[in-house]
Amino acid sequence: MSAPEARRWDVIVVGAGFAGSLVAGQLGERGWRVLVLEAGHGAPDAQQGHLDALESYRSAMAKVPNSPYATSGAAPSPDVTDLSGNTDGGFDAGGYFVQRGPLPYASGYLRANGGTGLAWTGLAPRMHPEDFRAGDFGHGRNWPIGYQDLEPYYRAAEREIGVAGDVDEQREAVGLPFPDGYRYPMQAIPRSYLDRVMAQALDGRPVQDPATDGPTRLRVATTPHARNGLPNPAPGAGQPAGGRLCQGHASCVPICPSQAKYTPLRTQARWGPSVTLVTRAVVTRVRIAGNGRAAGVEYQTYHEDAATPAAVSTHSADADLVVLATHAIENAKLLLASGAANSSDQVGRNLMDHPVLLTWGLMPHRIGPYRGPGSTSGLEGFRFGAARARRAPFRIEIGNWGWTWALGPPDGRVAELLRSGGPDGRGLFGAELRRTLGDRIGREFAFQFEMEQDADPANRVTIDPRQRDALGNPRPVLHYDLSDHVKRGIAAAKSVSDQLFALLGAEDHTRFEPGPAWPGYFEYEGRPYAYRGAGHGAGTHVMGDSPATSVVDQWQRCWDHPNLYTVGCGSMPTVATSNPSLTMAALALRSSDEIHRDLLARRRPVSVRGAAGVADPALQGADRP
Ligand SMILES: Cc1cc2nc3c(=O)[nH]c(=O)nc-3n(C[C@H](O)[C@H](O)[C@H](O)COP(=O)(O)OP(=O)(O)OC[C@H]3O[C@@H](n4cnc5c(N)ncnc54)[C@H](O)[C@@H]3O)c2cc1C
Ligand code: SF4
Repeated sequence: MSAPEARRWDVIVVGAGFAGSLVAGQLGERGWRVLVLEAGHGAPDAQQGHLDALESYRSAMAKVPNSPYATSGAAPSPDVTDLSGNTDGGFDAGGYFVQRGPLPYASGYLRANGGTGLAWTGLAPRMHPEDFRAGDFGHGRNWPIGYQDLEPYYRAAEREIGVAGDVDEQREAVGLPFPDGYRYPMQAIPRSYLDRVMAQALDGRPVQDPATDGPTRLRVATTPHARNGLPNPAPGAGQPAGGRLCQGHASCVPICPSQAKYTPLRTQARWGPSVTLVTRAVVTRVRIAGNGRAAGVEYQTYHEDAATPAAVSTHSADADLVVLATHAIENAKLLLASGAANSSDQVGRNLMDHPVLLTWGLMPHRIGPYRGPGSTSGLEGFRFGAARARRAPFRIEIGNWGWTWALGPPDGRVAELLRSGGPDGRGLFGAELRRTLGDRIGREFAFQFEMEQDADPANRVTIDPRQRDALGNPRPVLHYDLSDHVKRGIAAAKSVSDQLFALLGAEDHTRFEPGPAWPGYFEYEGRPYAYRGAGHGAGTHVMGDSPATSVVDQWQRCWDHPNLYTVGCGSMPTVATSNPSLTMAALALRSSDEIHRDLLARRRPVSVRGAAGVADPALQGADRP
């Protein structure tokens, strides 16, 4: 192949992660010449890459989301181990982010070919229709589109990434509208034994949410998953793609040994010949021409074994249209470094995540934890309704992986029992240790309350010329805090948790205290709380219906540059009450249709401009370059 800079491309996609892989695939399918520039390493062969990742994970000291994947100082990734709490309630931050507080932004991401979509958990629920209208409830912004605008693209995304779920249950328990006869590509991943025990104890029972007057009735519902289950026999529902069925290995984060979980590498495997991927290409700037259009990008390449500026060469590539898909925080960083798209002064602002309140305890009987995906069911009744005007709404995930997220894997508890587990404070050994372990570990469970964080312009990504990485590129400087609305939501979630534990007859071991394990520690109304990050970074280039208040329009096209798209969760005006990536994928497919129309319009303006809807087969076949 000739050097990428030697030719003009129809489209340059920056970032071969979740969103970028989808957009490149869609445009390649329509015959456009697409150059994908990816900052991270990429395995020469997908199967060998998978085996290497398994081996790296086995030998890694810290088993964290990024452990299996080859990263580089030339394109650093933030890691959850970068943060630690202080005994005075503050936090220390090392690593890639520059954290300015007052509270820590507690999520990481991965810069490697495939992006964070390699390490994600794979939960793929849809947003609730109400989530698109958060502004009407006085907290957050309204979206410029509604559920019905995105619905056909949800179906397309569920097909593309292969979602297993139960439509009837999502209709009844969550209140989601689906077209008649629709079925997910695969049947729902079966409930874990813990889910069934929970359903027996909780279904139909009332709890009192401090933000509502009447009781909320509980219902345990399975969660849609982007992992292979049994194909749905309904006509046209689709088939599981690639890999084997989920076998319950319980290591979806960071790597699924059987490749049952969707990763962007699966989409990349379907890319057509007009898509060209270049890895170890760190894009540093979007070039904006005098007429306000994006002319192309500048990027640096680096060698496998060296990440010093001396090892770098700099390149430039030109295209008719540029798509940034480098993750919410990196997209904002790139736009700021390029001096682009910021006439609204909203680039980098409104940084959001799902702050997660964890509660954990012991069930009265063994429930067989540490098997299957991290969560197979949840409680959805706190996501919607009038209460969201009074406190942040939240989804509750029932955690199958015991106390891992709260306190670390079970070996920590083994060490504790060895040290001082006996009734007289002496260590436990032999048969007694085995019996106690079987009893304790077999009863461990947790709840994960994922709070919707409202968009606050003061929570933001900035850059500072004094803070640079090994290649001289800016490191993200983060300002982050939780609003009173979110803290009220966390307090309400804790109250709901107390009632759940009482209904289950479970021992509550939840305890938050300042110290290394809880960098997200805070006090609210005299009570201690702490949060973890969900990895759901969003909102740094929000979409809206006015160039004065938003960065991109409803198609994720920058208001200031008609041929520059910035895609990913950063476009979301609210982080909503669902795990965000399915919505991000649906938005990426919707934008791909508009990009296709834009590209056609540049050649035949009259025939296509203004057409809307899901990929129009008539357009798809037309005017291929
Ligand atoms: C532990 C964990 C679990 C998660 N679980 C879930 C879940 O269950 N459900 C859910 O909905 N979401 C989940 N998420 C979130 C999900 O992973 C993200 O929403 C999603 O991956 C974001 O996609 P993206 O394409 O915007 O970014 P990414 O997938 O991170 O891709 C960005 C790509 O851009 C590349 N890149 C970055 N900078 C440059 C540059 N300068 N030049 C060129 N390339 C660049 C990166 O290397 C990367 O390949 C999870 C996240 C984490 C961390
Ligand atoms: S539970 Fe196991 S097989 Fe299923 S997706 Fe997770 S890691 Fe893969």
